[in-house]
Amino acid sequence: MRLARGRPTSDAAAVSSRARVVTGPVVADRGLVAVSGSVSWDDAAKDELYVAVEARHGRLLGASPESLLLGVLPAASSRGTAAIQVDKPVDPLLLDGLEVIQEYHRIWYGLPPVAVEATPARAAVAGPRGTGLFMSGGVDSMASLWRNLRRYPVGHPGRVTYALFVDFVGPAHLADLDGQHRRATTQRAGWLTGAMAEMGVTLVPVVTNFRVLDGYEFGTDWTRHSHGTLLAAVAHAFGPALSRVLIASSYWAGRLEPWGSHPLTDPRASTSSMTITHDNEQARRLDKLRQLVDWPAGLALLDVCSFWRERERPDVNCGRCEKCQRTMASLVAVGVEPSGLASFAGLDVSPGTIAAINRLGSNGLRGAWGDIQDQLPAERHALRRAVALLLARDRVATPLQRRLGRRALAVAKYVRGRTVAQRAGRRGVQDR
Ligand SMILES: [Zn+2]
Repeated sequence: MRLARGRPTSDAAAVSSRARVVTGPVVADRGLVAVSGSVSWDDAAKDELYVAVEARHGRLLGASPESLLLGVLPAASSRGTAAIQVDKPVDPLLLDGLEVIQEYHRIWYGLPPVAVEATPARAAVAGPRGTGLFMSGGVDSMASLWRNLRRYPVGHPGRVTYALFVDFVGPAHLADLDGQHRRATTQRAGWLTGAMAEMGVTLVPVVTNFRVLDGYEFGTDWTRHSHGTLLAAVAHAFGPALSRVLIASSYWAGRLEPWGSHPLTDPRASTSSMTITHDNEQARRLDKLRQLVDWPAGLALLDVCSFWRERERPDVNCGRCEKCQRTMASLVAVGVEPSGLASFAGLDVSPGTIAAINRLGSNGLRGAWGDIQDQLPAERHALRRAVALLLARDRVATPLQRRLGRRALAVAKYVRGRTVAQRAGRRGVQDR
């Protein structure tokens, strides 16, 4: 876990380091079209950068120094790079916003800010363009889409017309994709396409290597630091087609904590011609599910599982992980029997399955289970009692974990941070 290892800003090598971003053209590679570019690091390593879609969606993409700058920023930050130099002018609203985003990351995680060296752009893209939304198939993005479609009439520029389904872990080189998306992307996008098309929304599968640039660890770097920045990076590649992109909120406004996508930081990744909106944080997760009850086709496709890589059937959630259990218990609380949905077919939430949940470990999760406990119907008293026991067990465990765990975690972070830094120093970023 590298976030908290706290690099010293007085380190001479770190202060002098500079990443150089070069904006490339929109390129075609067999069946794919991509916004391209590269970043050179001080250790002479050079990484290719791309955001690619199938050729039929190629007209949506445009070269964007802002996309590449945002795509490189988290990796530069975790490498301790002092500055990013961009070869093309960058919108001044984003230059302002990056100072704000990085100040939050300094306060939350102790990450020193990376300076951006770029000429402020004089003009912004104009003309009628539409609204997009990042679609993962989870509760947050489904609820944001459904809410948007009910509020904004057809033809309104604020109505979502494109849902971006992003594979963030594309290979290092565009050519390695063989002109097509990876099979898992095509498969998952295929299930969503029909439900989106019925609502007049085009699902656009996207692949980029932004996330693998720095080998992010999912539970720390990606979730807590990078994912809002990198979603915005992808949004900016769609400048010719979109003027606003929605990022569905991860958390309810009443339970905010430092997080990679946050209402204080996401909007600051906007430019004068592309607004990034952190959407629907006024709703709790149960409220979002309650909204989705009116959209059975969307509800049937819910993909929430933490074990999506490992599970046996890609079209059905695992049913065992905490997130699956929490979503199934939430569905019961809003009056939907989860086993009746295709994506939870044959799966069960019961006092036994809830008792098997290991621990929650965050106030956000404890709050979400507390909401479920409050709203489970009276006739499901056994389930309600199981949730109460889960919460009680978690409260008992936490002070002990705080005392014993903190010291062990600090040592692990330090050792891990040193190992990563040493490996990077020897072999360059590709090996991390
Ligand atoms: Zn699961």
